Amino acid sequence: MTPPVSSPKLRASSPVALMLNQTHDPARLSWIESANHAEADFPLQSLPFGVFRAAGNLTPRIGVAIGNQILDLTAAAELDFLPIAARTACQQPTLNPLMAAGPAVWTALRARLSELLGVDSCPAPLRIQVERCLVPPAGVTMLLPAAIGGYTDFYASSFHATNVGKLFRPDQPLLPNYKWVPIGYHGRSSSIAISGTPVRRPHGQSKPADQPAPTYGPSQSLDYELELGAFVGPGNPRGDSIPLAAAPGHLFGVVLLNDWSARDLQSWEYQPLGPFLAKNFATTISPWVVTMEALAPFRAPAFVRPTGDPAPLPYLADEHDAAHGGLALNLEVRLLTEKMRATGTAPHPLSSGSFQQMYWTLAQLLTHHASNGCNLQPGDLLGSGTVSGPTPGSRGCLLELTARGTEPLRLPNGEVRRFLEDGDEVILRGYAERPGARRIGLGECRGRVLPAAG
Ligand code: CA
Repeated sequence: MTPPVSSPKLRASSPVALMLNQTHDPARLSWIESANHAEADFPLQSLPFGVFRAAGNLTPRIGVAIGNQILDLTAAAELDFLPIAARTACQQPTLNPLMAAGPAVWTALRARLSELLGVDSCPAPLRIQVERCLVPPAGVTMLLPAAIGGYTDFYASSFHATNVGKLFRPDQPLLPNYKWVPIGYHGRSSSIAISGTPVRRPHGQSKPADQPAPTYGPSQSLDYELELGAFVGPGNPRGDSIPLAAAPGHLFGVVLLNDWSARDLQSWEYQPLGPFLAKNFATTISPWVVTMEALAPFRAPAFVRPTGDPAPLPYLADEHDAAHGGLALNLEVRLLTEKMRATGTAPHPLSSGSFQQMYWTLAQLLTHHASNGCNLQPGDLLGSGTVSGPTPGSRGCLLELTARGTEPLRLPNGEVRRFLEDGDEVILRGYAERPGARRIGLGECRGRVLPAAG
């Protein structure tokens, strides 16, 4: 059901997806009280899209999160509340058609939703009708937001790449191509699951260095990776590329992403072609896609490369991306073990990092991906790679935090972790905040480890 791709249209130096408008005004409040709390992930300024199934209803529907409620867009479209150009796309079982529609439709829809849900912009008679389109969260099941045709995972943090490289190649942690070419690999779409889906410990081949031959069995080095996932909007025809200046018009929004990784399988299989079964058994994403337009107040300069690093090649460089290509997003990992769950202990923070530390911008990743004429499609997912920063507290996976298990973590309750144990639940969270803007959250991405199949 892949919708037709549309050609890139945005060529302006200030892409519309990055422009501020009245929907970002931090003073605006919603008539849905839960959206107005200072710590609410989904205030009026956010309006993220997701796909849900309401209790007793088998049909997936597109919704918008507002506070602790969901606005059912199929219901809103049927009542003629939405812009004509967005109406059909909002009544689908996935976000792909809306993603394909492009920035002009996204912006018109966002403006209308902001108006309908704003306390000062929605007259009382209309509010009563909009209220009928609200779905209380109880009994709602969140589903994957899109039919994900292609999933690519990048490796965009030089800190992560260096930390991991040190463990495997102490003499040459960062390979010479890293600062020139955004490194990535094609992942597996079929095993992408929504937050809350349990993850079964995978079996596979591994070969400890002191053993003469590999063995097959449950992974003993199961890990998570804290990442951001970006959904592609309009794609590009095969054979065409996407100039960097046009890239913002092809990025719909972001989710939290956990790239579950079996390190023992990975270290045995990764040469010479890269990750395979170590990573394709499960990837978890958060359910609400926070649009790039919602994140406009949190644009930041791209990562400043250390002196001596090469400048990006011309197709990966422009002034706009250097000035606004970064995202001031904070991302965190917490761990809830079986024992902590049983004793009612709060999840333990493992790390927190900033997306501003990423060596490559999302626009550079997208442009590089299409630079050879590879056709991206609406709903394709681009993983950023593990978000790690320069400090020990910002290492976004256990491989880095425990130095491949050689420096175990001691949790406050006395438990020790080298890698994940059965029953461990990994919880990713993310938020953006800065003075003069309303704080926006990314929600949550959770997954609990189940024992390997018998
Ligand atoms: Ca990864």
